[in-house]
Amino acid sequence: MAVLVWIEQVNGEPVASSWETLGAAKTAAEGLGAPVCALVLGAETDTIAAGAQTLGVDRVLTMADPQLADYRLSAYAAAVEQAVAAAGATVLMMAATTRGRELSGTVACRLGAGLAPDIVDLRVEAGKLVAVRSLYSGNILADVHFESAMQVLSVRPRAFAAPVAGATAGNVEALSFALEAGQATEQVLETRVTDSGEVSLTDAKIIVSGGRGVAADPAKGFALVTELAGVLGAAVGASRAAVDAGYIPYKHQVGQTGKTVRPDLYIAAGISGAIQHLAGMGASKMIVAINKDRDAPIFERAHYGIVGDLFEVLPALTEAFRQRLK
Ligand SMILES: Cc1cc2nc3c(=O)[nH]c(=O)nc-3n(C[C@H](O)[C@H](O)[C@H](O)COP(=O)(O)OP(=O)(O)OC[C@H]3O[C@@H](n4cnc5c(N)ncnc54)[C@H](O)[C@@H]3O)c2cc1C
Repeated sequence: MAVLVWIEQVNGEPVASSWETLGAAKTAAEGLGAPVCALVLGAETDTIAAGAQTLGVDRVLTMADPQLADYRLSAYAAAVEQAVAAAGATVLMMAATTRGRELSGTVACRLGAGLAPDIVDLRVEAGKLVAVRSLYSGNILADVHFESAMQVLSVRPRAFAAPVAGATAGNVEALSFALEAGQATEQVLETRVTDSGEVSLTDAKIIVSGGRGVAADPAKGFALVTELAGVLGAAVGASRAAVDAGYIPYKHQVGQTGKTVRPDLYIAAGISGAIQHLAGMGASKMIVAINKDRDAPIFERAHYGIVGDLFEVLPALTEAFRQRLK
């Protein structure tokens, strides 16, 4: 029995939510009395494997192979299956990123395993793993009990804390990767970068978001949001109303049907605080709301509230931070 965690990498960098998944896996492993194994796949695996070793895992398994240079579902699914067998894993976990959701579902089908997707919590009860899923914008927390021996979970980014790095421990064991002819039919022909220079919303420690409150002059409103974000090294977020109105692309949307974020600081400008928006950012460590309506629901969740016009407040904040952070 072991808990195996796939550590996703993009362009040689580990995905932050994979480390958080390791944090969740350690909780599961402790309760089950099982070891935790990290799995690193790619053309190059040494640097990330060394990082995993500092996070209190029992073993780090690597598969370094040119056929794993690019993420391809069938090749990665084959690799994960082989690693599950090598580790003797009964629990497989990965971050619920776009790739993680696809890969966890595929591997679960192939192994005939139970799947708990996008979990936000877990616990061990009477020696059995119970996964918790958040439904209806966080209004219902559903316990998922597994009936299968093999259990696969994908973990919502920002739902768990990453382990604190410590002394290097756990052996790195290189596994060989075998792909049968015709098993991986996809090819990566081209990679296009769409977010060049932007801070990633899900990984951001600070987010400045704009909502329908910019409607009087949307271009200026989001320019002000972006300027403040630039000074703070923050990512730019948005409410669905702002996205639906075409003020900003969907990739910036925070909430139930957008991204789930958990930054240290979330600044919401001209956002009323609908339940569907709160579902995506309510777990932020500090929420600052700017709204000209003092009765806006966002103020009930905000740690600090500024009652005022965002077209005046945002430039004042930007200038103050610019002076302060010089
Ligand atoms: C199934 C479903 C899924 C959804 N998913 C999402 C989601 O993922 N994310 C999301 O955000 N929403 C989502 N919504 C929509 C959600 O219900 C709200 O409609 C949306 O969040 C409202 O966006 P808003 O706060 O920007 O706009 P509004 O609710 O219109 O609020 C605008 C706010 O700006 C303030 N304001 C106006 N002018 C100014 C000014 N000059 N200065 C300062 N403040 C000003 C107003 O007082 C008001 O509070 C979803 C809805 C449904 C039904």
